[in-house]
Amino acid sequence: MHLSADISGVKGVGPSVTEKLHILGIYTVSDLLSYYPRRYEDYSNVLPITSIKPGKVSIKVTVKQIKGHYVRGGLHITEAAASDESGSVRLTWFNQPYRERSIQPDATYYVSGLFELRSGRLSITNPSMELESSFPLNTARVVPIYRETKGLKSAQIRKFIKAAFDSVNDFPESLPADVIIKYKLISRREALWSKHFPDSMQSIDTANFRLGFEELFEIILASMFARQTIESESGVTIPFKESLAKDFVSNLPFDLTGSQRKAVWQIFQDLKEHKPMNRLLEGDVGSGKTVVAAMAAVMVMATGNQVSFMAPTELLARQHAETLYKLLEPLNMADKVTLLVGGMKTAEKKRAHAHVADGHAQLLVGTHALIQEKVDMKKLALVVVDEQHRFGVNQRKQLLSKAGQAPHMLSMTATPIPRSLALTVFGEVDISILDEKPKNRKPIITKLVNIADTDRIYKKVEEEIEKGRQAFVVCPLIEESDALKAKSAERTYKELKTKFRKLNVDLLHGKMKAEDKQRIMQAFVDGMTDLLVSTTVIEVGVDVPNATIMLIEAPERFGLAQLHQLRGRVGRSDHQGYCYLMLSDAVSPSRRLRAIEESQDGFKLAQLDLEIRGAGALYGTSQHGELDLRIADFTDSKLIAQARTAAKSFIDDPDNLIQYPHIKKRILELQTVVHLN
Ligand code: ADP
Ligand code: MG
Repeated sequence: MHLSADISGVKGVGPSVTEKLHILGIYTVSDLLSYYPRRYEDYSNVLPITSIKPGKVSIKVTVKQIKGHYVRGGLHITEAAASDESGSVRLTWFNQPYRERSIQPDATYYVSGLFELRSGRLSITNPSMELESSFPLNTARVVPIYRETKGLKSAQIRKFIKAAFDSVNDFPESLPADVIIKYKLISRREALWSKHFPDSMQSIDTANFRLGFEELFEIILASMFARQTIESESGVTIPFKESLAKDFVSNLPFDLTGSQRKAVWQIFQDLKEHKPMNRLLEGDVGSGKTVVAAMAAVMVMATGNQVSFMAPTELLARQHAETLYKLLEPLNMADKVTLLVGGMKTAEKKRAHAHVADGHAQLLVGTHALIQEKVDMKKLALVVVDEQHRFGVNQRKQLLSKAGQAPHMLSMTATPIPRSLALTVFGEVDISILDEKPKNRKPIITKLVNIADTDRIYKKVEEEIEKGRQAFVVCPLIEESDALKAKSAERTYKELKTKFRKLNVDLLHGKMKAEDKQRIMQAFVDGMTDLLVSTTVIEVGVDVPNATIMLIEAPERFGLAQLHQLRGRVGRSDHQGYCYLMLSDAVSPSRRLRAIEESQDGFKLAQLDLEIRGAGALYGTSQHGELDLRIADFTDSKLIAQARTAAKSFIDDPDNLIQYPHIKKRILELQTVVHLN
């Protein structure tokens, strides 16, 4: 049988099992073999009965005196005596009446289960049992435990996986032969086998190393391949004009931080080159990325070329346009800034397009979508992508074909990508980091609180608003739901509207129409709203320096990176910022939540999130999918380093991609995930 064969071809898999396997996402033999156990139970140590101690035990026995009976409440109990040469022990099963019929009196069995004291008597309860064999599946071994579905238990899944292994004859190796040898890896077949039927707990580690190596090797290779592609293109060289840079800086109302200066310098170095820049500007919320991008834009505009500045939302696009306008005014370049967003009137849009086409508009600010689809910038030389750290190959291609020259790319993100992750997935992108906050920023006072503190906190909110400041209340849900007890934005909004009759309280959530969201957020930005109750839609990028206090309901439902981003909405000026995290009742604060109370360091928090919750926690569920490694761990620097070295020598020899077409195919699949530019 071939790995790509349909699952129904596996011995023992009939139509009803096929359906159940589909529920688990298993369609082919290959899917089945990559259906990794959730965990293992170590029952490998088979002992004489007299040596067993309470806990997980395995014995090799004959079973006698098996008898079932019902007790109060309809509970069924089956009891049996198991014995070996050393002694005997009681076996007890609850609600498994078939056990009585399934035992052959003279046969030898392996029995594995929990040896424990129940109702004052020692017995092995609910053990697994199977006839002695040279290859037991459910007992006397390290037993794999799978995610099950109704009517499909781990024991059956084990049986099917074993049957699949027995019938697959062609097991192609995915990694290049020399990599296997150099890094002393086991074969793919061996690794999968050990994943399901390990000889020992150590052999699971060996299998994980091999499979994790493969995952990282492929991702890193894809990233390196993307870089090669970009480096083969040619962009526009943008000479550095010192007088212009000086002029720009001298007109700022503040001094640049050291890390802003360094980032700007790195960008200018890139722009001078023929090969297009591919740089990620990473900086915590409020670290001042916009002004760095603005400086790059100005330098490009001075050569007569064009820049597009892409924001994730219309509101942010408007905000950026305004900011850029102000920054460019002293240089007499403000009239080169043009906004393009969906909410504009048709005539306005037409005008914007015309200005772009005739080259008068040199700095076009808009939403990602709009600029990608509609804009024809003949002299596009720099693309700034804000708050979107994954900009796919195709999106980039679109821009390329329109411009006829490869633009320099600058992506900006406030998601603090931990070093290990950055090196792996974004390893082939140049990174500038703003790790210094502007000097006037005070740390945001952050406190974990609970329901009992509600009145005190609302009082504090009121005080801040009386001082002229504004407040956020963030809820994890829009509407009430039975399953989740957390407070909804709608309910909180109603409550607060009644509570604070004199204040302007408003509600914002993701299900609202785009123009309503836009209007509500704009009113808040303009200071018309005192208190905004919201879901996480306020998360990205919005700059309202007058907002100083935030209450987050049910913080246990958010990732640390996300909480940190939310918190970054307050304290963006020289006013003191406050962030209260209102724990749902009965929840005692976890290590994670204590960390956010103690630390203002986005990188540290992200690293912790990565360790505890995986890469998904950093990116939110909708985006991370492909980035969620199944085996490898983004915090395993040794594995990452080896996979990198292997990928580097692989890509250095162009013959490799011809020799290993399946690897080339994988790389192309992964391109969209890792190509960041
Ligand atoms: P982010 O990195 O989150 O995008 P912004 O670019 O929106 O941050 O900057 C946040 C605020 O900090 C803006 O109001 C900006 O004018 C201000 N800012 C930027 N750099 C500095 C600096 N070096 N000193 C003081 N304020 C600064
Ligand atoms: Mg920003």
